[in-house]
Amino acid sequence: MDNPRITVWNEYRHEVLDKEIASVYPKGIHGAIKGNLEAHGFTKIRTATLDEPQHGLSGEILESTDVLFWWGHMAHHEVDDTIVAKVHERVLDGMGLVVLHSGHDSKVFSRLLGTKTGRLRWREAQEKERVWIIEPGHPIADGLPEYIEIPHEETYGERFEIPAPDELVMISWFEGGEVFRSGCCWTRGRGRIFYFRPGHESFPTYSTPIIGKLLGNAAKWASPIQSAQHVFGMVSSMEAK
Ligand code: ZN
Repeated sequence: MDNPRITVWNEYRHEVLDKEIASVYPKGIHGAIKGNLEAHGFTKIRTATLDEPQHGLSGEILESTDVLFWWGHMAHHEVDDTIVAKVHERVLDGMGLVVLHSGHDSKVFSRLLGTKTGRLRWREAQEKERVWIIEPGHPIADGLPEYIEIPHEETYGERFEIPAPDELVMISWFEGGEVFRSGCCWTRGRGRIFYFRPGHESFPTYSTPIIGKLLGNAAKWASPIQSAQHVFGMVSSMEAK
């Protein structure tokens, strides 16, 4: 799907509570991602935030979303379990999900992956990150260089407590010595899930054109697939006369 209906969900607390972070993301992280995707030709983008009724994710919004982006950090515990259950169900039914950065610890992500947490090692040291694209034939790698260098990011390191990805498209190196699986793909039910590591709130990562290109590729890849509904239960022999 070239122009999926995207909803960018953001917790939207750091940008409200901290002036320095607001100066990095004056329109919020959701606003930056929306603008960057629009710059890459996507035209059907909505945003939703934690403090809106139903976190901005009513049944109507979810039903009309092809791909949901998810950024959260300090308020994972405030996300209502009924909304988490709805997102879970929509993904199983085919909605794509792009989980960003600290979303590794979100209820939505761990519920879908079946993990207790998405624990990892981390450090805020403004280190350089080099994201290596290790599967150049993957649709999310379309138009991307061999690696993407981000001058300053939060460091994440293995082990990252996730089930082995169905496809591992990117690995990050950090100047402090860690490595990290930073571009991971899974399928759950009919839905596709992509986890993308970069995007700490203090750095303008989501405003850079190359990251916009990558996130757009992820949205296209995660878009619902139109395929047959399977028949379950007791059935007659197809060869019966
Ligand atoms: Zn962070």
